[in-house]
Amino acid sequence: MAVYLDYIDLSTRGNPDIIDITTQVIELIKKSSIRNGLLTLFVPGSTCAITTIEYESGVVQDLQRAIERLAPQNMHYDHDARWHDGNGFAHVRAALLGPSLSLPIADGHPLLGTWQQIVLCDFDNRPRQRKICVQVSGDE
Ligand code: ZN
Repeated sequence: MAVYLDYIDLSTRGNPDIIDITTQVIELIKKSSIRNGLLTLFVPGSTCAITTIEYESGVVQDLQRAIERLAPQNMHYDHDARWHDGNGFAHVRAALLGPSLSLPIADGHPLLGTWQQIVLCDFDNRPRQRKICVQVSGDE
């Protein structure tokens, strides 16, 4: 068994920025030379999340509106009252979606659906530099 670790560096606009990272992930799977195993994606940071979606503008907007209903930007957050950084809504949104994703790798490919893309969701209230950990473990 082999373990490969690499990173995807991204500049994000924030509030929210939903970015399709599928192409970069597939390239790192190829680079890892691992044919069968497990891919784990993880983004360090408490205002950012990783999930999958059909990446077309309609669904992306629908997701943004659903998240706005779940954790609206314009309401009271204790985090903002304590730290005055104004991103309480971003911390809650990131916690709801989660910072990681696991995918099975078979024959060198992630087992995604035809219309399923991997996205990074940056909810912070300002542009950020993000470093996504991509770990692939399995057999070459
Ligand atoms: Zn904060």
